[in-house]
Amino acid sequence: MKSAITELDGKTVVVVGLAQTGVALAKFCAKRGARVIVTDGKAAEQLAAPIQQLDGVPVRYELGGMDMTTFLAADLVVMSPGVPTLSEIRAAQGHGIPVLAEIELAYRFLHPEATVLAITGTNGKSTTTALTGKLCEHSGRPTFCGGNLGNMPMIDAVEHPANAPGGLIVVEVAAFMLEHCDTFRAKTGVLTNITEDHLDRFGTLERYAEIKGRIWDFQRSDDLAIANAADPWVMRETAGIPSQLYRFDSRPGADASLDRGAFVSADRKELVLRLPESEERFPVDDLVIVGNHNLENAMCAYLATRGIGLPSSAVRAGARAYRPLPHRMELVGDKAGIYFYDDSKGTNVASVAASVRGFPRPLVLIAGGVDKGGSYTPMLEALDGVCKGIVLIGKAAPLIRDAALAHGASYPLIDATDMFDAVQRATELCTTGDAVVLSPACASYDMFQNFGHRGRVFREAVSAVGASRLD
Ligand code: ADP
Repeated sequence: MKSAITELDGKTVVVVGLAQTGVALAKFCAKRGARVIVTDGKAAEQLAAPIQQLDGVPVRYELGGMDMTTFLAADLVVMSPGVPTLSEIRAAQGHGIPVLAEIELAYRFLHPEATVLAITGTNGKSTTTALTGKLCEHSGRPTFCGGNLGNMPMIDAVEHPANAPGGLIVVEVAAFMLEHCDTFRAKTGVLTNITEDHLDRFGTLERYAEIKGRIWDFQRSDDLAIANAADPWVMRETAGIPSQLYRFDSRPGADASLDRGAFVSADRKELVLRLPESEERFPVDDLVIVGNHNLENAMCAYLATRGIGLPSSAVRAGARAYRPLPHRMELVGDKAGIYFYDDSKGTNVASVAASVRGFPRPLVLIAGGVDKGGSYTPMLEALDGVCKGIVLIGKAAPLIRDAALAHGASYPLIDATDMFDAVQRATELCTTGDAVVLSPACASYDMFQNFGHRGRVFREAVSAVGASRLD
């Protein structure tokens, strides 16, 4: 175990990665008297916005590459999410220099009587985090909701009113963040599911799953581990965990085998929580989010909050008040009965499969971008019977084409030059009653800044084909 760092005054801290989290980290450390060096592989011209946000903050920049000597002279290295473990970072670790994830640093500054609820998994993190945050807010206790979600890195929780006895700190945690955690303990740790994603970074599913499983590694015996009973990779990670296991299971007939956890009633109208002292039922109709995957997300959020004793009235009120996040199967346009859905957050194969499985109308999918190294088969299977064509964008286009042909797809596979071209071509394949769905199964950064940017360009393209906008 690395030494606990809670004193930054006079320390030399290297902040790796200058995006939103890097800015927050630099401010946090500088405010606490650290000598801060911010480093990023990008050149200064590409980082004008974050540099401007640090105007007046005493930091030194090393941009356009990383300098080994800087890392080796540091007292502490703090990582922004998404930054790979570079050779400089390994070297610093080799010299005994602590390398911490941003959430690990934040965690070390939290009040011991604030409660951390952490959510990870391949898919459903943001929805589950935002829903959990909503339920917490409705309990009336001070609530911070952020982490990988939106624009509130966890380091911002330190100065939030929720960082106090009774406060609730809800954080979405990405796998990259868990890689550099060694004490981060959540009172409630949720692992929604594990499917192929980020294999370009982690190499194997085993390694990726092992990193995700760290959400539970530092828990105590009275903490809660919430796990997807239907997911073999998740269940594998529950072996030997120190905390109380609560399983959720959306499969029909799941109730018989659950001792503690949650399942869906036989008529699919209620979510049933089996808690140590009671069995409680929550109407599915409280929720506006739809689909089996969202029932799973809701079971996680309900277990996470009821499991720490928040009132069921807060759970119901929060559930009713919850609205879906943008870029998750959002209906954004209509052109003479052709509907346009923005699912830009469908950044991996399993999330696209969850979105399109059993889709109520024929659809043309727009997919592609930066491939993540897994198989497209689950997505292609989910498309069987509903898909009228795939319009391909970005670098992964040939890979998806080959996978679709190998799968025996008989619908058209069309290459597009950009998002405008893609929406145009997809619309041409549709007739009244069909849908165009942007759900790319890939990362966005070959063509866009991030999934939000990709979704916004999609909406512009939807307008450009003459659809009325519904947002
Ligand atoms: P994340 O933050 O993990 O990317 P989101 O809640 O933003 O997850 O959902 C992203 C997409 O993943 C959604 O549009 C949906 O298609 C799919 N998804 C959401 N929840 C689940 C789930 N529990 N299981 C499988 N897929 C899901």
